[in-house]
Amino acid sequence: MAAIGPLSYSSSRTYLECPLRWKFLYVDRLPEVPRGYFTFGRVVHSVLEALVRPYVVPATRRTPEGESQRTLDEWGARGAVGGGRPPLTREELLALYDRSWLSDGYVSPEEEERYRTLGRDLLLRYYQRLVREPPRPVSVEEHLQAEWEGIPIHGYVDRIDRTPDGGLEVVDYKTSRELSREDARGSDQLSLYQVLVESNYAEPVERLTLYHLRSLTPHRSPPRSPESLQDLNARLGTVVDGIRAEAFEPTPGPQCARCDFRSRCPEFREVASEESGRLRTLVDRFESLRQEEHRLESELRRTAEEMHRAAEDLGVHRLPGTRGVAVRRKEESWQYPATAVRPLLEAAGLGERFGTGGTEEIRRLLRDPHVPAELRRRLSETGSRRVRWYWELDDGGAAA
Ligand code: SF4
Repeated sequence: MAAIGPLSYSSSRTYLECPLRWKFLYVDRLPEVPRGYFTFGRVVHSVLEALVRPYVVPATRRTPEGESQRTLDEWGARGAVGGGRPPLTREELLALYDRSWLSDGYVSPEEEERYRTLGRDLLLRYYQRLVREPPRPVSVEEHLQAEWEGIPIHGYVDRIDRTPDGGLEVVDYKTSRELSREDARGSDQLSLYQVLVESNYAEPVERLTLYHLRSLTPHRSPPRSPESLQDLNARLGTVVDGIRAEAFEPTPGPQCARCDFRSRCPEFREVASEESGRLRTLVDRFESLRQEEHRLESELRRTAEEMHRAAEDLGVHRLPGTRGVAVRRKEESWQYPATAVRPLLEAAGLGERFGTGGTEEIRRLLRDPHVPAELRRRLSETGSRRVRWYWELDDGGAAA
């Protein structure tokens, strides 16, 4: 049985998309090829963390003993940033951005420069907004863990803000091109963060927000309902069960396009060249046999139907051939729909006799003299008879 650590949003999403890819990442610990847009996101996140962290004021935390000490009132309304001045000047912010820059994963110097310019522009506009409207975070880039109905979970939450009503707002920054309110409403990541924050903080989560950095737009949604969280918990339960059972089958899909492990995956792995000639012959043979099989099946069906029509016209069951005789056989079966049978039995106080509702059980009831005759008649009326004709070859033992 595979050991299982706390599940993060991205780990559970990976497992649900493809268990084998999850194994490559989290069991075999294979590295992924760096990608420029991920590097870019990491750099922007780290600069935002440094910019916003000085605004943090503590909030009431859940502890094993109850709730922790410090509250916003004790700390003062504006936290550590005094006099309304931002913690960094504009120039310090740009210098920090330059120092934090990483070049991993960009496909060309031009692409790297495009991202670098985008990040500078985005951070400067964010900075102006921050000066005008100072945030009220209670934490930034916080690593939270919880046990959620038996499932250990964890995650790094970009920001948790105080709402005007004294509740909490979970904020996740997004550097992606497009983002909508619908994304916030449907985000499993925000749902998981809601659970993490509610497990660690005393105040209620009042908003879940995806913050679109390119347009400085917060896409907000109300907290998730207990039903919707239950649905997510059930999906995480599937992940935990699968990992514990070491169920790591490949599941091909759109995610394969960005999977770095195709050369190891049975769905994509190339066959060694010395084997490929022999295998190609085998696969080609299989393919032509399959086609022949389909052709023969439909020809057999057409011939049997024609023989059946001839037998009907002649009123016989045996048709002579050169090497034997074809014998027509009849197979009868009865169907009793459960939706009709069950209410009849229940009304007669015999609901427990329904069993699995199979045809044989109903036929037994119809033969049972202890079942009232009227009920047997009505049960019998729910049935419909099916007749199937088929042919057997009688070759007089020649085949043996
Ligand atoms: S290539 Fe596709 S099926 Fe194979 S491991 Fe990667 S995601 Fe899974």
